[in-house]
Amino acid sequence: MSHADAALGGESSTHMHAALELASRVRADSSPNPWVGCRLVATDGRVFEGATAPPGGPHAEIAALCAAGAAARGATAYVTLEPCAHHGRTPPCTDALIAAGVGRVVVGTLDPDRRVNGRGLEALRAVGIEVEFGVARKAVEAQLAPYLKHRRTGRPFVIVKLAASLDGQIAARDGTSAWITAAAARADAQRLRAESDAVLVGAGTLRADDPLLTVRDVPGTSPLRVVLGRIPPGSRVQPALSVGGDLDAVLDELGERGILQLLVEGGATVAGAFHRAGLIDRYVLYLAPALFGGDDGLPMFAGPGAANMAELWRGSIVGVTRLGADLRIDLVPGAAAAHDGPDAVSFPMAAP
Ligand SMILES: [Zn+2]
Repeated sequence: MSHADAALGGESSTHMHAALELASRVRADSSPNPWVGCRLVATDGRVFEGATAPPGGPHAEIAALCAAGAAARGATAYVTLEPCAHHGRTPPCTDALIAAGVGRVVVGTLDPDRRVNGRGLEALRAVGIEVEFGVARKAVEAQLAPYLKHRRTGRPFVIVKLAASLDGQIAARDGTSAWITAAAARADAQRLRAESDAVLVGAGTLRADDPLLTVRDVPGTSPLRVVLGRIPPGSRVQPALSVGGDLDAVLDELGERGILQLLVEGGATVAGAFHRAGLIDRYVLYLAPALFGGDDGLPMFAGPGAANMAELWRGSIVGVTRLGADLRIDLVPGAAAAHDGPDAVSFPMAAP
């Protein structure tokens, strides 16, 4: 690689990471569309930015092209996800990039949606636009993981969220569980809920806690509320979708409804069932500096656990965040090497 090439690679990566940052700002608002960021660098060096608007609004590329106006001619577009080449709620972004006279398009990853899947890049190449893809790919794929999983498998990305003491219990002997963690962790959990398309709880949790499962105190809309089992009459969660039994069928149904990210909020019985079925893509564990101090509380996962060390489930920690006095640990199945995206940052452990 020549010196110039190395500089170019570094510059592409810088612009792609800036596009990722743009996308992160619309994370809670763009679903069911993918949260995409676009950075347009004009021939005179000026930079124009765009991110996906809520459904029906412009995609990231269109927003950046509008900001750039005539300066788009000959510019380089850095887009986290391959531009769409099909008519959805809006016309294809490839047509707009071509019409604006963009000279080069750099893409983080291909869009596995069967209507795109390489066709976007092909359409650009066909008219002589220089195309590059795979820049900052791991970081882009980590950010878009729920969308990519949905398009590849037809199922939502499943996150299980649990708040526990450091000795791994989520409720006391009398069944009470409010509030193990403090305000900062609870606000973070609200953001997680706001960026999810659906939240799921077991009917037992409704009977015990009667949660609202809405988004409060942070921006964002409340997700679809899903109850596993029969919804107890008079519970505050209504309206909600009640689904039954087989978890594979539940995920298929939610995928068909366009749910990209499902947040499983408990309780322990539901968490245990999802865990043992191997259906969890990410565990978000909020841990408080507290100990129940016995073996008669409620563990994170109800039901039979590992019978021996050979059955011990092992994953990788991809994020550790201090939230006030509490910790958030993000855990994923599999070896760490597969997950060294932006989440693999270890956060400094400052004093609270
Ligand atoms: Zn588009």
